[in-house]
Amino acid sequence: MPIEIVTVPCLSDNYAFLVHDRASGRTALVDVPEAAPILNALSARAWRLDEVWLTHHHPDHVQGLARVLKDHPAQVTGAGADAHRLPPLNRRVGDGDTFDFADQSVLVLDVSGHTRGHIAFYVPGADAAFTADSLMALGCGRLFEGAADQMWDSLTKLMSLPQGTQIFSGHEYTASNAKFALTIDPDNPELISRSKEIATARAAGIPTVPSTLAQEMATNPFLRASNPDIRHRLGLPDATDVQVFAEIRARKDAF
Ligand code: ZN
Ligand code: FE
Repeated sequence: MPIEIVTVPCLSDNYAFLVHDRASGRTALVDVPEAAPILNALSARAWRLDEVWLTHHHPDHVQGLARVLKDHPAQVTGAGADAHRLPPLNRRVGDGDTFDFADQSVLVLDVSGHTRGHIAFYVPGADAAFTADSLMALGCGRLFEGAADQMWDSLTKLMSLPQGTQIFSGHEYTASNAKFALTIDPDNPELISRSKEIATARAAGIPTVPSTLAQEMATNPFLRASNPDIRHRLGLPDATDVQVFAEIRARKDAF
C-alpha cells in the first residue's frame, strides 16, 4: 500500500488518524480531538502535516486544531454546509465531491444523522473510509441533530462501498457496543465470535478500530435492519428498514 494510516488515541476514547503517502511524504490528519498526541505522533515520524480533514463540528473532533496548526500550517477541509460552526476552512466540500491527496482521489460522502453536515472521507486507493460518528464499530452515532431516516440513508451509502473497505470510526466504543448488539442479535455466530475477539483486544489495550465493512455488515445490528431474525425478535416483521433501524437506535439510547 502506498498509503500508511496511523491510529492516534486521544482523550479518553477518541481516535484521530494520520494518512501518510510514502512516495510524496504528504500527510493528512482526520479530526483533532486534542493536539498533544497528534503532535507527538507526527514528530516521532518526522512527518510534516499538509492537510486536516474534519468530519463534523463536535468539540471532541475539532478542539485541538488551533494548537496543531501553530506547529503545522496545514490546509483544512470540512463540510461547506457546516462552515458556519466549523473552524475556518480552506476547502469546503459536500456530498459526492472528490479532491486529490498525493496521487489518491478522496471521495466525500454526506453521512448526516449524528449531526447535520457530518461527512465521511473515502480513500479507495487505501481501502479506507473515515466515518467518525456515523458508522462505528458495532454501532452508529447517536442521533443528536438528524432523524432515523437520514442516518439510515447515510449508513446505506456506506454499505455500498466495497466490502473490504476498512472503517475508521472516531471512538473506541466497541466493547460496550458489543454488549448491546448481543441483546439485538444474540444467536448470530459471527457477532458472538467478534465479541470475544473484542474483549481479548481491549484487555490487551489494542484498538478495535478499524474494522471492515464486511465485518460490520455481518455483525453490526444497525446495518442489519432487514435481517429476519432481528425483525422477529423486535416484533417488527413487516416494518420498513428505517422503522427497524429507529427501534434499534431507541433501544441503544436506553441501554
Ligand atoms: Zn460527534
Ligand atoms: Fe465524537
